[in-house]
Amino acid sequence: GLQARPSHPVAMARPRKLQVWAGCSVGGVQCVQVRGGQGERRGRGPAQPLRAVPTMLLRLLHTQLWISVSRHQTASSKHRIVGKSIDFDQVDRERNWDDQIILTALLFYVLNSVLPMRQGLPWWNSGGLVLTVLLHLGPVEFLYYWFHFHRALHHHYLYSRYHSHHHASVVSEPVTSVTHPFAEEAVYFVLFAIPLLSMMATGTGSVAMENAYLLYIDFMNCLGHCNFELVPERLFHLFPPLKFLVYTPSFHSLHHTQFRTNYSLFVPFYDYVYGTMDKSSDELYQRTVHGREETPDVVHLTHLTTPDSLLHLRLGFTSVASAPLSLKSSASALVARPLAALASLLGRGAFRSESNRMGELNIEDMGHTQWRRQRDQQGPCTRRRRMATRSGG
Ligand SMILES: [Zn+2]
Ligand SMILES: [Zn+2]
Repeated sequence: GLQARPSHPVAMARPRKLQVWAGCSVGGVQCVQVRGGQGERRGRGPAQPLRAVPTMLLRLLHTQLWISVSRHQTASSKHRIVGKSIDFDQVDRERNWDDQIILTALLFYVLNSVLPMRQGLPWWNSGGLVLTVLLHLGPVEFLYYWFHFHRALHHHYLYSRYHSHHHASVVSEPVTSVTHPFAEEAVYFVLFAIPLLSMMATGTGSVAMENAYLLYIDFMNCLGHCNFELVPERLFHLFPPLKFLVYTPSFHSLHHTQFRTNYSLFVPFYDYVYGTMDKSSDELYQRTVHGREETPDVVHLTHLTTPDSLLHLRLGFTSVASAPLSLKSSASALVARPLAALASLLGRGAFRSESNRMGELNIEDMGHTQWRRQRDQQGPCTRRRRMATRSGG
């Protein structure tokens, strides 16, 4: 079992998370309005503590996009890296992925309120870019590599209490990247604070660079754990050293399946230097990036019965999909109906929604977007089915 049940500082807000998000959205809009109304100084960013809010919403949206895209992509075997299904324990373990985003926003809110140097931060400063790149490639990556490598290999005590929580997910999802006990998460916060605090200390900080660094962390985290290969081979041909600077989904996937290789954070350089990269990294990358054609044994065609059933799909929001009956009709009207209308407008046919293994069989689920037509054209549907039955189909 997992001893380290993470008790997160924002855990109290969990039952009210939807309200927190909604409240923040309103705050974000107000923040933008206040900014517009006050007339900013030239080239200066907003001074309000609420500046952290738009960043938080952007990060939530970005991660949710990764979740949906990766579930859609891994529903097909083409570029999928690990072919096993995800179990319910993992879904439960990873469903509070947004806690760390909310916590970061709270930290920034406090910093923005109390530190005078955070008032009127400029939009851009190129010194901050140079500093962040150097500090990330140097101390952040290096410290993470040694911390990770050393601990995993030599300190079973720490591994079993902390890092095993992240490694419990062999088939990773984008949000596996942020699934850690709180003590471990705090260590990552300290690591990522190195470039951010250095920018502040040297006066090279800027709104753009702060946000770009946070988004870089999120992007690379989701990339490494999305479980399908998408980094185009062309990029490595155009710029060969990229191999040492950017990891790929298959590279980090090997860390989850093999445990004792590919320890790097986002930049595989130190794995190459110290010879800890997995020997099969290149081969797995080649195999998954080119893809393979596997025909499923069973295809399950399903169609939506009501607009709400769109929200029950695995492609969307885990917290809603896992408790479909708890959805209030007002929330459904607000979210599900426009989404369903959009889906039936955009989608012409069926889309892949999930794939599962049942014994020896590979089962693919296809969802049909035209829920209204399916419902309204009961007649032709039934007629076609009858014909199929008659012809022995
Ligand atoms: Zn690890
Ligand atoms: Zn990982």
